[in-house]
Amino acid sequence: MSYYKQGIQMIDAYTIDLHEGSELHGYKVLQKSYLSKLNIFYYELEHIKSGAKHIHISTDDKDNGFAVTFKTTPQDSTGVAHILEHTVLCGSKKYPVRDPFFSMIKRSLNTFMNAMTSSDWTSYPFSTKNKTDYYNLLDIYLDAAFNPLLNKLDFMQEGHRLEFTQPDSTDSDLTISGVVYNEMKGAMSDSRSLLWDKLGQSLFSTTTYHYNSGGDPAIIPDLTYEQFVEFHKRYYHPSNSYFYTYGNLPLNDHLKFINDRILSNYSKIDPKTEVNDEVRYTKPQNLHYSYPLNENDNDGKRNFYALSWLLCTITETEELLSLKLLDQILLGHSGAILNKNLMESKLGKSLISASGLADQSREVFFTAGLEGVSETDYKAIEKIILDTLQKVAENGIPQNEIDTALHQFEYHTRDINGGHYAYFLSLLFRMMGSMIHGGKSIDELDLDKTIENIKEKIKKGGFFEALIKKHFLNNQHRVEVVLSPDSTLEAREEALVQKHLKERKDAMTDDEKIAIKEQSSLLKERQDSEDDPSVLPKINISDIDRKITILQPRPVKKHINSVPVSLYEQTTNGIVKAGLLFDVNHLSDDELSLLPVFTLLLTQSGAGGKTYDTVAEDVSRYTGGISSSVRLVTIPGNASVCNKYVKIKSGALAHNTEKMFQLITNFITEWDFSDINRTSTLIKKKLNNLESDIVSSGHRYAMGLSGRFLTESSYYSEMFSGITHLRKLQSLAQSDENGIKIIIEKLNSIGKKVFGKNNLIAYCVAQKADLEIDGVFEKFTGELHDIELHKQKSEGVTPKNLNEAWTTTTPVSYVAKSFKVPDITGLDSAALRLLSNLIGLTYLHPEVREKGGAYGGFCSYNNLNGIISFGSYRDPHFMRTVNTYNGVIDFLKSGTIPESDVSDLKIKILGELDGSGTPSELAVNDFFSELSGVTDDVKQKFKDAVFKLELQDVINAGLKYLQTEGSVSAITSDEILEKEKITGITIEKI
Ligand SMILES: [Zn+2]
Repeated sequence: MSYYKQGIQMIDAYTIDLHEGSELHGYKVLQKSYLSKLNIFYYELEHIKSGAKHIHISTDDKDNGFAVTFKTTPQDSTGVAHILEHTVLCGSKKYPVRDPFFSMIKRSLNTFMNAMTSSDWTSYPFSTKNKTDYYNLLDIYLDAAFNPLLNKLDFMQEGHRLEFTQPDSTDSDLTISGVVYNEMKGAMSDSRSLLWDKLGQSLFSTTTYHYNSGGDPAIIPDLTYEQFVEFHKRYYHPSNSYFYTYGNLPLNDHLKFINDRILSNYSKIDPKTEVNDEVRYTKPQNLHYSYPLNENDNDGKRNFYALSWLLCTITETEELLSLKLLDQILLGHSGAILNKNLMESKLGKSLISASGLADQSREVFFTAGLEGVSETDYKAIEKIILDTLQKVAENGIPQNEIDTALHQFEYHTRDINGGHYAYFLSLLFRMMGSMIHGGKSIDELDLDKTIENIKEKIKKGGFFEALIKKHFLNNQHRVEVVLSPDSTLEAREEALVQKHLKERKDAMTDDEKIAIKEQSSLLKERQDSEDDPSVLPKINISDIDRKITILQPRPVKKHINSVPVSLYEQTTNGIVKAGLLFDVNHLSDDELSLLPVFTLLLTQSGAGGKTYDTVAEDVSRYTGGISSSVRLVTIPGNASVCNKYVKIKSGALAHNTEKMFQLITNFITEWDFSDINRTSTLIKKKLNNLESDIVSSGHRYAMGLSGRFLTESSYYSEMFSGITHLRKLQSLAQSDENGIKIIIEKLNSIGKKVFGKNNLIAYCVAQKADLEIDGVFEKFTGELHDIELHKQKSEGVTPKNLNEAWTTTTPVSYVAKSFKVPDITGLDSAALRLLSNLIGLTYLHPEVREKGGAYGGFCSYNNLNGIISFGSYRDPHFMRTVNTYNGVIDFLKSGTIPESDVSDLKIKILGELDGSGTPSELAVNDFFSELSGVTDDVKQKFKDAVFKLELQDVINAGLKYLQTEGSVSAITSDEILEKEKITGITIEKI
């Protein structure tokens, strides 16, 4: 235990001598508080001389986190903040290596390392469980942020530069390149990111949010090197910085380190980075924009319609929280009134991805709308939104809907497992807006008082109704943003760029042309030069524990009503998490191909005699959500056999555990898909989401395709969540009313074969007192019966290598290649894990990303089914990348791989083996690991083998397994295939 009671005052065992008002290492403590709900100590400090702010969270978490954040508020769309984020990572005064971050990823025990640019901040976070590693990384981060080299060549590499298409010929055409330039070209071809950008541009006309902080490709080339350096000087100053530390390492040491190393050298300035109030519109605005889409893909329903309002500032804690509750009431679940009215109108395929309250700017905004709409329906959608708000304001909100919103709030503030980010980061992100805009950050962590105030006001009546009138009905700062497809947009924009480049070239003197040529060769020289990462600190392998980490305490296993249950006692802040797995190995392949559609509908349709909207309301009222999916469990060592399950997952506040199981019982014994509209809407919505996903996750789809005939588990995994599944949905989405009825019949008959008592296993994660669920679970399983588990004859998978391309609308490709190799039970598994890291980080990253211009090039090893895959992301090339993949054997044989790469990567892998995550995540991982038969013994043998690895073992493993032909699949476009004159491969249309 980290905290012990002394009298009534809580004592922080890690940082015992700091109190409000005390001064230490140049800092003054402004506030110290204990937050009982989160069981943490909160410290707020200011560095006296430089004005740097610092928040520290003291907790017994060994995974210590750090972040330094700068308030970055650019006044144009050159992407200066984003380019700077990239370039500060290209070497610093103390660590003058080309890519210190990347080198540290290879040789550190970090559990998280990244850098990110938002609309008004840039942040550099990391975390690690090892103290030496923490201070190594801290030193590198501080030097990178405050003393970067900002070499002009790096600015050109990361930002933008002019080049000849044949770099050594001044006769060839000019072209623009640069990592951020290409990244943003990719991002802006994604209609959802484009819409997000256009919302900001339209809602804000005078403040920094008007501009694209990532950079608009048309404007990025305007940024000069001098402006770029100046931006660093002003914005990356301690007076404009916000430090954050988290974990069980003593704060005192952090303060001393940061003061001595950086802050003592600076005096306070006024960086003038305050963001003013936006000038409010006096009447609503209408703005229309276009996005690129091929003529063939335009079915007339590809428009986006959004209505958006500017609301309060982020530092008005109570107003903001009230609006968040209102957001939940209006859109929070599929039965919520605005959500339901929009979807049931059938005027669009799904809610717009930017729906709801957005709190990433100083003044927050709310958006509602639909995507996949036809241009004749804009007025009708606007009417639905405005009428719904009007009606709610007039008729009021039923108390049960308010209770549901309050329950969701309570659940999500307790659930430390909720976000997409590590816990230390999710706490930081909660405080970020308030922190950089001068609010009270602690209020964002401890909202108890605020929520009590709001509850009092709700009691008096008319609270949310008044809020709707104030912020929506009587608010003139409203914008309508429409995004429409334009098949000639890309060509027109490209022609404009080419025209501009030609004019520039024509106006150039010979000397200017030669200067460009020379700069290209200097840059190439810098990219090709060998780095000396030996100046970077590293962990000694002898400091790493040789034993694997085993989750403690071990689960209690019992049979309740003859169903095997694993009970995990973990810290969960009063939440009970449960998972139920129904074995479905007896289903036929035909039934399995429809199974993901069954699980998609199961928890989003009607059940227990109630319609879907009422069920959705109940689920939100009593749980943190109930989801169902198909889950594969691969059994390594057994020719990669895999078991298939339907998985139901949920979580609830402990006092709602029984209610949670009741709701699950309704779903699995009395599901109701008979609402044809609802069933058809859910299928179309899912299809629309998967189709939009291709651009952002194309590499995942391509890697799934290329490995699908290598093992049984990769085959089914692709069938359940890959392009095969997407195609299945495409064909189902074509169905008329009768067709849907036939599908529903099939799904009903599948469902009857799924939920038995004799094919169920379960897990539960909770605090000790909440784990006594025998009674509840007995009642739950009492509703189930044994079912027939007769195994159907499956055709099985015949291993085969592919050479294929799948085409869609995309300006870039995603190229993948997979090989069958041994799994974790094989002798070479440790060598293969290191090999995949070596190939990804030291071969594909430089060849495919740095030289080839793709956004990513990587290699993964799935040690359960034994597949190694290469992949590229947003790749401007196809054949070049395939050739790079083919060159992997030459790379392994080249004799240029340094021994140090292997010793560095060993550290990275050993760090990963320890696992990181929230307590309930670790428990669930433990459960599935056991289900796969990956015992502690197997894990320990694997770890032992990693310690013993040498360079030659790794190279030998590569030569042994990767000399085969391999299996290639790519996601690309017809235009790219034509441009690269690719023939002799199988071509399929998505
Ligand atoms: Zn970037």
